[in-house]
Amino acid sequence: MPEVPPRERESKSLAKITKPRERAGRPPACAVCRCAAWWNGWRVIYPMVAAITAATTERWELPVPRAKCSRCRHGFTCYPDGIYPRRQYQLDVVAETAAAVALGEASGAEVARTSRAAPTSVRRWLGWIATLASAGDLLAIASRIDPDVPVAGGLLPADRGEGSVRARAAAVLAALEHIGAALVRRGLTLAARTGLGRVLGWQHAVHGDVYGLVAGVRHLSPGMAIGGSGGRA
Ligand SMILES: [Zn+2]
Repeated sequence: MPEVPPRERESKSLAKITKPRERAGRPPACAVCRCAAWWNGWRVIYPMVAAITAATTERWELPVPRAKCSRCRHGFTCYPDGIYPRRQYQLDVVAETAAAVALGEASGAEVARTSRAAPTSVRRWLGWIATLASAGDLLAIASRIDPDVPVAGGLLPADRGEGSVRARAAAVLAALEHIGAALVRRGLTLAARTGLGRVLGWQHAVHGDVYGLVAGVRHLSPGMAIGGSGGRA
């Protein structure tokens, strides 16, 4: 699967920041057969990442280590915390951009310029978030993780109308913020800073799930094991 979708090439004009090769002493066990794996080279990806100190986006050249199972020969990539697979614009960029459009007064075009994305990408992100899960299901999960989470209410922007994509995306983003905050209060260490990044990043780390824009699993399952026995953060 290509890392750089053709429609998102507008980011190419941004200077890239080259990141060093980093990997643990040994790869994690094979997810298929649980046997030991060995390191098997590197591949280079070019994610668009939310800058830590400013409301801007950075383009990285990031080597990610590949591993191979010693028994079943399954090959897999080990993404560092905070880097989501099969996605050029990383989840914090998507969440912060979509939130600015869904909750703020800025136009999609203005927000797209700040995040270095195309206006069509921003529209697709809003639509994707709006259908990712129901805000009610997400809030139920949040209160299962942390009973002190505020009850739903006041989540929908009053002036958008409940049925609009913006309003639904805003409600989903707000509910994901509640889950993300609850996970952090539970002591999980999560590299992402937005609810979307924390929840999907955690789902990927624990369950290996990847929620793509156009392929694969499309919706967060209400029965997902958030709040269950959990694995590593
Ligand atoms: Zn294996």
